[in-house]
Amino acid sequence: MILVDPKYNPDLQNGVNSATALAPGITVAKFLGAPGNPCVIDDLSSTVKTDIVRHLYLHAEAMRMINENTSEFKDVTVNVIEGVYRKSSFYDENLTGLSQKKETGRVIIYEVTGKDGKSDLEMTYDVAEFWKDYIQYDEVALDYDLYNPSGRLHAGIILEMPQVSRSWDPSFVGNVNTYFNGKLFKSSELVELLLDDNVPYSKSGAPISSSAVQSFTAPATTQLFTPQPNTDANVKLDPASVAKCEELQGLTEIPNDFQLSPNFTLDMLSSNAIVSKYPIKAQVGLSKQDIVCNLINLANNILEPILAKYSGLMVTSAFRHGTDASQHNKGEACDMQFSGSNASAYYSIANDIRTLVPHDQIILEYGDWSTRKGQGRDPWIHISLKRAADQRGQLLTYNTNRSPDYTPGFTNFA
Ligand SMILES: [Zn+2]
Repeated sequence: MILVDPKYNPDLQNGVNSATALAPGITVAKFLGAPGNPCVIDDLSSTVKTDIVRHLYLHAEAMRMINENTSEFKDVTVNVIEGVYRKSSFYDENLTGLSQKKETGRVIIYEVTGKDGKSDLEMTYDVAEFWKDYIQYDEVALDYDLYNPSGRLHAGIILEMPQVSRSWDPSFVGNVNTYFNGKLFKSSELVELLLDDNVPYSKSGAPISSSAVQSFTAPATTQLFTPQPNTDANVKLDPASVAKCEELQGLTEIPNDFQLSPNFTLDMLSSNAIVSKYPIKAQVGLSKQDIVCNLINLANNILEPILAKYSGLMVTSAFRHGTDASQHNKGEACDMQFSGSNASAYYSIANDIRTLVPHDQIILEYGDWSTRKGQGRDPWIHISLKRAADQRGQLLTYNTNRSPDYTPGFTNFA
């Protein structure tokens, strides 16, 4: 039996809604939807709403304990990054087995930020540890991922509460787990992961199983998603492309109009791409020839087959200047839009492309989406391909208006 503060007990309120207080300074609204994508529950029946709000009361208690612990958690803020959601409101329900628990408010995903308002990996671990020891729950889990192509390690806390009825006498399972890139990384333990030189490592040096170590030390090649039949093939350059790459070796200056493939010249993927215009230069340890050969690979294996099916294909950005882990900097990635296609078509085009062409990674991207209001920037599709055989077959959706901004699989936000 849980002792519920009568002031906040939803069963004692005269109806509940998004303004209902759950703890000092914490209302139901804090747990609805995701940042920039609030969801509404006020239209639900009072029974359904009250069931949800009972779970949120437990979450609010967990939050309150951090807020009030100013000795240990000064300048620390616990934010909801995935709260209660309604089907079709913002999250594809088949993306995660947690969806039903998210609908009822049992599962909330949190992000912990420090003084500077940025996600703080160490504090995230401390909050999870604190909850593990001082509250009751079905599961507390650290949820790490390296989905952000820049190589930034993201950490969240999954907090799951049991089903709570009017009698307020749930039993709490008390599971503790650590997840990495959407997979169980360590069961029955919270492992603190940090990032050094783009390689995640365990701070405590806690024993890690060998299979976990593999995915742990080599995140770039971790198979996150089952590739489609023709997508994880060992991509070999066709003879014409091999000849093109050889032709390059003899050139000191590579002309802008160098023909990468029948329909694409070098400048279309570099200095004259529609949005980002960067002339070819040697960088990130690669020669100009290496980079242009990567672009030849992209043009022949990705762009030509897509253009043959989608005549509106436009390359908005391919090679870029930069030193971070972005595949654009190596000539391994390009961004595309499609003239004549409306925003909602991008989701189906992305799904089509994943079976049409080999790929290392495809990202369905919604940039500036919060300010779009029907007239902003259209989505775009980022696609990458390596010349090596270790294609990840990774599918992601990016939305500037969500936190975390990168999520696995394709979600239609248009
Ligand atoms: Zn891109």
